[in-house]
Amino acid sequence: MGKEEKQCKMESDFVYDSLTGLYNLDTFKRCVAAFLENQEKSDKFALLYTDITHFERVNNLYGTGRADILLNDLAKAVSKIDFGLRLYCRSSADHFIALVDFTSKEKLKYDLEEFCRSFNGLALERFPEARPRLGIGASVIEERSDCIDDMVELADSARKNLHGSSTVSVAYFNPVDFGKYQRVKEIERDMGKALENGEFKVYLQPKYELETNKMVGAEALVRWIKEDGTMIYPDEFIPLFERNGFIRKLDFYMLEQVCAMFRRRLKAGKRCLPISINQSRVLLDSETYTTDVACVLNSYHTPPDLIELELTERIFSDSLSEMAEMMDELKRIGIKWSIDDFGTGYSSLNLLKKLPVDIIKIDKTFLDETETSDVSRIIIRKTVEMIQELDKMVVCEGVETEDQASYLKFIHCDISQGYLYAKPMPMEEFEKLVDEQEAVA
Ligand code: C2E
Ligand code: CA
Ligand code: CA
Repeated sequence: MGKEEKQCKMESDFVYDSLTGLYNLDTFKRCVAAFLENQEKSDKFALLYTDITHFERVNNLYGTGRADILLNDLAKAVSKIDFGLRLYCRSSADHFIALVDFTSKEKLKYDLEEFCRSFNGLALERFPEARPRLGIGASVIEERSDCIDDMVELADSARKNLHGSSTVSVAYFNPVDFGKYQRVKEIERDMGKALENGEFKVYLQPKYELETNKMVGAEALVRWIKEDGTMIYPDEFIPLFERNGFIRKLDFYMLEQVCAMFRRRLKAGKRCLPISINQSRVLLDSETYTTDVACVLNSYHTPPDLIELELTERIFSDSLSEMAEMMDELKRIGIKWSIDDFGTGYSSLNLLKKLPVDIIKIDKTFLDETETSDVSRIIIRKTVEMIQELDKMVVCEGVETEDQASYLKFIHCDISQGYLYAKPMPMEEFEKLVDEQEAVA
């Protein structure tokens, strides 16, 4: 290829999708934004977002060359849409986006279903083994003032509503998802500043020794307290932070805050109780994880036996031997490991056998049924017995009633945590409790 030809190709790649020759996503977005500016307010527009179910199967069974033919077929079909087509592009893989005008949502849905049916007939004929099926998510453009990225995001979210269904081929964007989408955007927009501003707070939920009823430690649980005083609970943002990677920063921030508290108290000659900190699965992907943890402890001069790291049982799907090695590294410096939500995963017993854990936290769901179910009582009793025989401590979490507590005491469970004793509380409140207990002792 000559120099000029190359330059020309680069310029064309900038505007067009090289496989289908349609606009690429960036060009499409620019064109849609400019187009909508000049339209009458009364005109109605929708964005369509395609998805081919089993497209991977086409790739795997027929090879990428043949799969590309299917994409070119779809490109052709999209460009020939005969109901209100205005602009269209291929955004990635099997995703094409089109802007159409329409008069009624019902009629548009009907046209789209017909479009899918006709395309599916052709695709099935060519790729019978893979059974590809076209689905389309449609979102009506309600606010012309929305930014184009949001519009595309909404159409994509409509597409996700199809959930790879084999019967539904067209799904409209639903306002409930819109609320969720906006909430996610808001959280992602605010999270960085919130961390800088100290809006993430360490709450501590005390743990009690059943035998003596004495407070023996606590679990750190994050709370996001916004400037206006509203509190967001971790269930709303932790899964999102695990997806977007922000959890790495947050979990280390929690560790640092706990270490800073220990430093402050130890300097003042005050007593410290061990604190457990939840560690997300995402953290363990980093090769420097163990050294990063050790560095934090070092920089705050934290005695490692005050730190316990909780890993939820739900994360253990991959290589247990690698996991064991990583855990051993931190165990060697004196940090303890606990398995959280024990009994909810698929290989609880395997974990007990293969991982160097010190503490097992039995999931709340087992406790919930102890009052009504003999089976649950037997399971919990025998589990506690087994864990203790393996020389590990047992914590029962989610203890809410006196009956549950006395049953746990009866079966010699070590430690208990739950609303019966105390809810998660701000750090200062917990520190006061520790000081009071010290004063009584
Ligand atoms: P988890 O680690 O299983 O924490 C226990 C959850 O049960 C906490 O919810 C706690 O407030 C709640 N709980 C405690 N006692 C009782 C009780 O008696 N009854 C009932 N119904 N619930 C009780 P929370 O604080 O909303 O945290 C939810 C989950 O979010 C945690 O579950 C943990 O998986 C995650 N999480 C919280 N903080 C962090 C964090 O800093 N980092 C990471 N990676 N995850 C966190
Ligand atoms: Ca936990
Ligand atoms: Ca738990």
